[in-house]
Amino acid sequence: MTAALRHVCRYCDESIPDPDDAVLVAQVGGNSGPGWNIWAHRAHAHLVEPDPVAIRIMARILITQALWW
Ligand SMILES: [Zn+2]
Repeated sequence: MTAALRHVCRYCDESIPDPDDAVLVAQVGGNSGPGWNIWAHRAHAHLVEPDPVAIRIMARILITQALWW
């Protein structure tokens, strides 16, 4: 017996029981594996913001590149 895969909404942290209500909003790469998908309710998909940590890291990389190149 296999358990049905339930997605969790990134915006409200609630389970998404209806697969038709789940919207793929992002994919996160893993350091040692394939990574994972980020899901949200259809009504919450436009409210999900990018990961602030990833944005901060990318900003530092871009600033460093701009100053060195
Ligand atoms: Zn939600």
